[in-house]
Amino acid sequence: KAKDQGKNRYCFYTDDLQELPARKLVLVRDLHRAIEKEEFEIHYQLQIDRRSGGYYGAEALIRWNHPSMGMIPPGEFISIAEETGMIVPIGDYVLREACSEAVKWHKAGSKIKIGVNLSPKQFYQHALVENIEKVLDQTGLDPRFLDLEITEGIAMNDYLGTVPHLSRLRQIGAKISIDDFGTGYSSLSYLTNLPIDTLKIAREFISRIGKDPANEAIIASIINMAGNLGLEVVAEGVETENQAVFLENLGCSKMQGFLFSRPARASITSLQLNGEVRI
Ligand code: C2E
Ligand code: MG
Ligand code: MG
Ligand code: MG
Repeated sequence: KAKDQGKNRYCFYTDDLQELPARKLVLVRDLHRAIEKEEFEIHYQLQIDRRSGGYYGAEALIRWNHPSMGMIPPGEFISIAEETGMIVPIGDYVLREACSEAVKWHKAGSKIKIGVNLSPKQFYQHALVENIEKVLDQTGLDPRFLDLEITEGIAMNDYLGTVPHLSRLRQIGAKISIDDFGTGYSSLSYLTNLPIDTLKIAREFISRIGKDPANEAIIASIINMAGNLGLEVVAEGVETENQAVFLENLGCSKMQGFLFSRPARASITSLQLNGEVRI
């Protein structure tokens, strides 16, 4: 019997090795058909303001419901989409879906922001601002409720196109957040001239609250700096009440994390917004 188990384990191991590149190849191949076949789903994670106790926003997070491989998380295919350029149509799809969903929530009485992640290739498209304006126009979303999340890499890139792009997005009324703030190991001087609204403190810092005083000093500094620069600050990945209380005591009341809400389909998010379910 032990021999059988050993054999099974051996088979699993070799399959696994061969699957690594094969799986990626399949994803690259199938990504081209996934949009037409509507295999993507957008899940929404509500964001809370502990000061008011209410939801003030939701982040749109894509998932790929692959017909044979099941639900594939964005961590596995967004980088492939970025490499192959497929991120541009995928990103358009997310933006359109998320904006029209937000309009439904607004009509139902929940005036919350919608957060949409922008990858570098999407951000640096020439037609980015026009595309976004078109989607806002077609969906009827008030631009002030669109919160575009950019990577720290985009934010600190001193390529000449970055600041004008950001400025134009803010001119049309959209908000800009820097996602996963603090993970880029960058100089902070780039922040002084950047037209942005919000820093989202990376989950890596939040998960170490209560375990590491140096980490806590960094969180305190980020919150303090955001205040001094006139920026909003949001904590990502809040999982425990201890973390939430720690952040609140430092003056950071906006939070996103499993403690408050897990990413869920739009139909569930509507129920959450009405207080009918809590997930
Ligand atoms: P992100 O933008 O930083 O999104 C937050 C991620 O943290 C989400 O993972 C969310 O499910 C997860 N999360 C939220 N709260 C908690 C928590 O309390 N604990 C833990 N352990 N995790 C939490 P997800 O959905 O797997 O997305 C991963 C990343 O994929 C996103 O990170 C974002 O960078 C990218 N992504 C997702 N959707 C899109 C999209 O539509 N376009 C682009 N360009 N990137 C996307
Ligand atoms: Mg994000
Ligand atoms: Mg993030
Ligand atoms: Mg992240």
